[in-house]
Amino acid sequence: MATPLSADRLLAALRAEGVRVVEYRSWRTHNRNSAGPWGPVNGVMIHHTVTSGTDASVKLCYNGRSDLPGPLCHGVIAKDGTVHLVGHGRANHAGKGDGDVLAAVIAERALPRVDEADTDGNTRFYGFECVNLGDNRDPWPAAQVEAIVRASAAICRAHGWGKAGDTSVIGHLEWQPGKIDPRGPGISMPDIRRRVAERLKHPASWSPNTTPEEDDVALTAAEIDKIAERVWRRDFLTAAPEAKAKGNPDVTAETWLTYLGARLREVIATQGAQGAVLARLAEGGGLTAAEIQAAAEAGARAALAELGDALGGVSDR
Ligand SMILES: [Zn+2]
Repeated sequence: MATPLSADRLLAALRAEGVRVVEYRSWRTHNRNSAGPWGPVNGVMIHHTVTSGTDASVKLCYNGRSDLPGPLCHGVIAKDGTVHLVGHGRANHAGKGDGDVLAAVIAERALPRVDEADTDGNTRFYGFECVNLGDNRDPWPAAQVEAIVRASAAICRAHGWGKAGDTSVIGHLEWQPGKIDPRGPGISMPDIRRRVAERLKHPASWSPNTTPEEDDVALTAAEIDKIAERVWRRDFLTAAPEAKAKGNPDVTAETWLTYLGARLREVIATQGAQGAVLARLAEGGGLTAAEIQAAAEAGARAALAELGDALGGVSDR
């Protein structure tokens, strides 16, 4: 039996979990408690709005539609990860769903196939509407998904859910037959549950580094060659295996790129100097534009050839 969190406790839990919260209008007293019970609560449900734009979506979820009075959820999660609180108490978001799913949520075990709509979900679930068109093309930004994870974890943590096993966070599509939300590139309920479960092993203030540093990625020799090939012409690199065989086997991608960058700057500087000399020659007369152009190209070719030779000895430096 879980009593719903007070508005203050919900707000504190969200903020402690690192969620950026916006309090919209009279959210604390805005609810559908006149239409039925709110609680006991057992889980969190995730939806997509089928709208775009934060302001319009928040307004719609607060006011509701002509056929469905608001609030349509408790919080709207914007693309930038901000959570806009629009209601506290019973909200029109879950509709009727599968009682077997509710039993699994309560027991914190894997969800069964959803095939019934026999149970009132608005009594039992906190609801977050996430701004997304739901057309399976509108992307889910990482900041928005992270906010879904944090907001869900905040509620689970406050109630002590997720200790038995699976976390108590489900998608509308897992609750009611025929529903598809949430869907699209970047969102997956099993992934959300996995991340919520991981958060719950840490304190609320935990901030994982979700994007690994490039330095952490180990590259094979073949991958390094591939990168180098894209950076420079292939025929300049045929000497690389020989260079490695001769001496330093630790020619890294960074070595190559640093070296290529340094040599490229030299080539550009050489060309610039040659250009300046040619311009002065032209001012003095005696050279046609075509002749100057030919001289400049020959100079550039010579510099590039020199670069090719030098690359063969990269490991000797
Ligand atoms: Zn929904």
